Amino acid sequence: MQHLELPATDAEDDDVVKTICADPEWSDFRDDWLAAYASYRTSAGNPWSVVPGEFNDDVRLRMYNLYTSKRKSAALSAMRDMQLSSCPMCGSLTTGALDHHLPREEYEEFSILRVNLVPACTHCNSSAKGKTFKGDEPERFIHPYYDAWAGEPLWQVLIEPPYEAATFGAAPLPDLGEERTRLVKFHLENVLSKQFIRSMTTLWSTYPRSLMVGLKAYDGATVTGAITTDRDRAIVGLGCNSWNSAFFRGILANPDAMEHVRKKIEVLFEDKTEA
Ligand SMILES: [Zn+2]
Repeated sequence: MQHLELPATDAEDDDVVKTICADPEWSDFRDDWLAAYASYRTSAGNPWSVVPGEFNDDVRLRMYNLYTSKRKSAALSAMRDMQLSSCPMCGSLTTGALDHHLPREEYEEFSILRVNLVPACTHCNSSAKGKTFKGDEPERFIHPYYDAWAGEPLWQVLIEPPYEAATFGAAPLPDLGEERTRLVKFHLENVLSKQFIRSMTTLWSTYPRSLMVGLKAYDGATVTGAITTDRDRAIVGLGCNSWNSAFFRGILANPDAMEHVRKKIEVLFEDKTEA
């Protein structure tokens, strides 16, 4: 969940199709293919409105395989290797793969359309997400290139008691409006992995000790101030919808979780004094 600049202009993406279709084996499909690209752009990659091209299975297979043959090209490698602070799809702290926003299993004609290729972590690009690309209308994934609002804070981590062995979930922020709330909910339900839960479990269990470093007191205001600073640092360093930013937002929105952290720090202070 990040807003990214478009990786290619309309003309640059169209030129790839025009070059391929200079080959007589492809030339018959040129106009329909370009029309599908145009539809993708006017629909902003929304599966509820994009009009797929009409191609037979043989052509579709060839289009699907184009990505396999071009995945190591300079243009696609540069997208895969973009320096990003967190995964634009799920907010994890790794990237290094390219995800088809509309899956190439369903939309072979967009297999090498750059505005359909999103830098992502390996989980987001793995089979875990599978062929899912929409739910019940209007549910779909957030599009990092076309949904400018992906650059705003969208979600927070839910920390559920008992806090000594907390469980974790994810929820849209409360003030997003009805449609965005549904999109964010669908997105979260389909991109967050078991690794997210493992990561939150570790962060939560180690957080009081790491927060304590540099703290001079453990009263409510001091602890709230320190968590707020951690949240703001995560937003600047990792992106406002990274796992860590959503984690700190989740603590700050949960008075009981805050109090748990404060009490843990209090005990750590006492241990330190006794030592
Ligand atoms: Zn990811």
